[in-house]
Amino acid sequence: MQPTKISPATLSKLAKLGIHHRSELLLHLPLRYEDETHLAPISTVQPGQTVQVQGTVTHNEIAFRPRRTLVCRMQDSGGELYLRFLNFYPSQQKQLAEGKQIRAIGEVRMGYYGLEMVHPKCRAVDDNTPLQQSLTPVYPTTAGLSQTVLRKLIANALETLPVTDTLPESLLRRLKLADFADSLRLLHNPTPDIAAFSLENRSHTAWRRIKFDELLAQQLSMRAHHRERGKRIAAALAPHRQLTSRLIKALPFALTQAQQRSFAEISSDLAQPHPMQRLLLGDVGSGKTIVAALAALQAIENGYQVALLSPTEILAEQHYLKLRDWLEPLGITPVWLSGSLKKKDKQLAAERIASGETLLAIGTHALFQEKISFHKLGLAIVDEQHKFGVQQRLALRNKGKLDVGRASARHASLETVEAVGLKPDLQTTEPHQLMMSATPIPRTLAMSYYADLDVSVIDELPPGRTPVVTKLVSDERRDEVIDRVRAACLEGQQAYWVCPLIDESETLQLQTALETYQLLMQTFPELRVGLVHGKLDNAEKVRVMAAFKANELQLLVATTVIEVGVDVPNASLMVIDHAERMGLAQLHQLRGRVGRGAAHSLCILLYQQPLSELARARLKIIFESTDGFAIAQQDLHLRGPGELLGARQSGVAMLRFADINADEDLLDQARQAADELLRDSPAAAQAHLQRWMANKHDYMHV
Ligand code: ADP
Ligand code: MG
Repeated sequence: MQPTKISPATLSKLAKLGIHHRSELLLHLPLRYEDETHLAPISTVQPGQTVQVQGTVTHNEIAFRPRRTLVCRMQDSGGELYLRFLNFYPSQQKQLAEGKQIRAIGEVRMGYYGLEMVHPKCRAVDDNTPLQQSLTPVYPTTAGLSQTVLRKLIANALETLPVTDTLPESLLRRLKLADFADSLRLLHNPTPDIAAFSLENRSHTAWRRIKFDELLAQQLSMRAHHRERGKRIAAALAPHRQLTSRLIKALPFALTQAQQRSFAEISSDLAQPHPMQRLLLGDVGSGKTIVAALAALQAIENGYQVALLSPTEILAEQHYLKLRDWLEPLGITPVWLSGSLKKKDKQLAAERIASGETLLAIGTHALFQEKISFHKLGLAIVDEQHKFGVQQRLALRNKGKLDVGRASARHASLETVEAVGLKPDLQTTEPHQLMMSATPIPRTLAMSYYADLDVSVIDELPPGRTPVVTKLVSDERRDEVIDRVRAACLEGQQAYWVCPLIDESETLQLQTALETYQLLMQTFPELRVGLVHGKLDNAEKVRVMAAFKANELQLLVATTVIEVGVDVPNASLMVIDHAERMGLAQLHQLRGRVGRGAAHSLCILLYQQPLSELARARLKIIFESTDGFAIAQQDLHLRGPGELLGARQSGVAMLRFADINADEDLLDQARQAADELLRDSPAAAQAHLQRWMANKHDYMHV
């Protein structure tokens, strides 16, 4: 057999599917299968089932309301069924003329007239048309590329391309993995004896082999990144322990074991002449800021500058105040790049940074974007790394400021840092990077997703915290909640009232916040109530937060802008309105705003009935657990990793076939196999990467 010629039009469609080489057709595996191996009698089909039926067309008309629709009725010996097509060709109408015998396959649902299929796949048949012998693969495709064409191209590739196994025999035997070529053939053309469910749920040995290979490729590629980073150059920032020990001594608390360990890891990375790329993971309130401050001091001890980037103005200001308190006694005055600075002051700050006079600059991402250049930048710290949205990163990338071809530019956060113009001191060196995140990603997921980063985990909270008590309260008991808030505030406590998310609409959310604020001011004439939301101008935001922090306000009405990082230890009561609308990570983050001081803290989740199943599950989890890692693990089960890490937003899937959640065992094996392969058979590792990664620049990260 000869390789088929592919027309330029088809080539461009294939490119849309990420297929640039003929060999990549082999790995374009079915999304699902259709069972055309038998016919279902119409009288037996149920709504929700996907079935194949055969019968005679008894009616065919074009309806015009509500939209132009082709409606047909078909009948077999025992029942009848409607077929509806919203977009159709005249040829289709002919194919479905009254009296024709047809086979239709599709999902059955209950329509206006009775059972119906919308846009079923139909073909004309006669009494002798044979049924398919095996399940029919359905491939991911794009507009204008039919399943038939794809199927033919893939079948041709299977026939004409050599499919070698990239992995050594011994490894396959030990891990009991199926042959690669056999697995591919089977998945493209399953034989009739294969249980459909093992293909559907991807538990079949053929799927396991493919998933293993994919995970292995991911591991190999991450190791390659890691090695490549070892070739890049950064300033070696040795731990002189002058400033750092002085700060540690001056603190009113002792560092936790986990903080000490994390700082030790960071400290030894900084001393290397290669750029650190480390993620500091720690639950809300675990004390990441002090670790960041110590890292900053180590850079400063070496005469280098440090930039600290925050996602929001509130957070940047808070960091600025905290670091100023800690560092001023050591003779270091940080500069805050605030949006509310006057133009002249901004200019002045920029000059100080450019001249090297300022050693520590703190600000939002947006501010650093405004052409700030450093004299000698040694370390960039990105707080709440997960908050830097995919859109932001893409927008920055599209500005063309980036050399995306460089391997180093692939990591999203690095892109952030580079794109906002944090230039290294010399052409050839790069700043070290510390990323911090309170998204308590389960460790397995973190290692897999971020495996080209090093990860430090702060897995304990500072001592003396009393855990936050969580209460679920139905909206019908709102009055009791209001009494509770009043009583708490009159006793000298401070409280947050968090307004609901409204269909992700900022305008509506703002409106609700304003209304809630008005209402609560009327409800609590005896209390001082403040309001903070994303649309306030910066100076105002900062003013409100400072007033709350200084206990001049007792109740703070807030939108979810307070979700990240805000630290007001005296606040010990939080009400989250319409908690059922929020995601688990968000609820956990919000709740983390209380329980920061010694007082007993309470978080009231007000919810409105009826609850969806998902909302009920979420509220149950957040009620039962305060451990961010445990919550994240559950979230992973509820939603899958894509959403947890925001991959859904980006539209770029990390893994096509494997599922880190369901395939944890394979991930472990792949991790080991990657080390082994690189050590014992580098050529095999190379071939494997070539097969899976040839064109996948942004395979792991958006
Ligand atoms: P996060 O990890 O959420 O950024 P922060 O760095 O804001 O947490 O720390 C939360 C609070 O805990 C702060 O008020 C901080 O000063 C305090 N803190 C940090 N480390 C310790 C510690 N080892 N002992 C007591 N308090 C600590
Ligand atoms: Mg923080």
